[in-house]
Amino acid sequence: MSIASPAPTFTEPESPASDKQEATVKKRRKDVAPTTVDRRRFANASYWAIGWLTMAHLVAFTAPFYFTWEALAVTLVLHWMTGSLGICLGYHRLLTHTGMKTYSWVRYFFTTIGLLAGEGTPLDWVADHRKHHACSDQEGDPHTPRDGAIWSHVNWLTYHTHNGDRVAYLKRWAPDLYKETGMRWLDIMFLPAHIAVTLILFGIGYAWQGIDLGISLVVWAMFLRLVTVLHATWLVNSMSHMWGYRNYETTDDSRNNWFVAIVAYGEGWHNNHHAYPRMAKHGHRWWEFDITWQAIRLLRACGLVWDVVDYRTASEKKASEQATPAS
Ligand SMILES: [Zn+2]
Ligand SMILES: [Zn+2]
Repeated sequence: MSIASPAPTFTEPESPASDKQEATVKKRRKDVAPTTVDRRRFANASYWAIGWLTMAHLVAFTAPFYFTWEALAVTLVLHWMTGSLGICLGYHRLLTHTGMKTYSWVRYFFTTIGLLAGEGTPLDWVADHRKHHACSDQEGDPHTPRDGAIWSHVNWLTYHTHNGDRVAYLKRWAPDLYKETGMRWLDIMFLPAHIAVTLILFGIGYAWQGIDLGISLVVWAMFLRLVTVLHATWLVNSMSHMWGYRNYETTDDSRNNWFVAIVAYGEGWHNNHHAYPRMAKHGHRWWEFDITWQAIRLLRACGLVWDVVDYRTASEKKASEQATPAS
C-alpha cells in the first residue's frame, strides 16, 4: 500500500468578518457537537460498549481451544452474512446512504442481519456514520485518525457519540429512521437478539453432535465471528483514512485500501465512497472488486432492489439506463 497523494491539510474555518458570519460559524460548530474533546470525559464513557466489546474479545481469544471444522464453516457463512449483507449492504449502503430502493420487508431483513453483527443498533450506527460523512476528518468526526489511529479504530466506541442526550442526537442525524416504529423496536432488541442467536447456535451444536460442538459454535460462530467482523469494519475507519491511494481529491483523508476491501467486503474502496457516498457500487476501477456490490447486482436481477445508485453523474445514469432499458 502506498500513499499516492499527500493528505490534504486541515484548514480552520476562516475568521468571520461580520456578526452574521460569526453566528454562522458558531451554528456550524454547534451542529457538529459533540467534538472528540467534548466526548472524552470520564462521565461520558459508554460502559455498555466497553463491557460488550471486552466480553466478546475475551471469549474470542479462547477460540483455538474449541476449534471444529463444522464451527469454522458456520463462522465463515455468518461472517459474510452479518459483515457483507448486514453491515455493508444493510446498515451502510441501504439505510445510511439510501443507495437503492427496496421492499420494506427486504429492508428490515438486511437491517436485522446487520443488528446481529454486534456493531450497535441501526439508529446509532447510521447516526454516527452520517456524522462521519458530514465532518470527515474535521471537528465533530466521531472517528478520525487525526485524533489517533487507535482512537479511530476502537477507542472512539468507548465514549458515547452523543453528549448525554441520545434521542436528540438520533433525531439530528437519523430523523428518518427514528420516526419508524420498527427501527425503534430493533433499537431495544440488540441484546435480546444476540442472546437468542447464542442460544440457537448452542442448541444446533448440541442437537447435532453434543455439548462440545455447542460450545464450539458459540465461541466461533458467535464471538470470534463477531470480533473479526468488528475489526473489519473498524479498519475502514482507521486504515482507510490513513493508507492507500486516492482516485478522487476529496476534502477528507479517505483512501482506497485493497486489504480493507478484502476483509470488509468492498468497503475498503473508501476514497471512492467518500467522493460519491450514495453510490452503492464502491469499486470504480476494474480491479476494485466489491463483493457486496455483486450481492446488490444479484438482488437487482431478482427484482428485490431497484433504482440502485450505480452512477456518479447524471450522464452516467443516462448511459446506464440506455444500456439496460426498463421493461
Ligand atoms: Zn470514512
Ligand atoms: Zn458511508
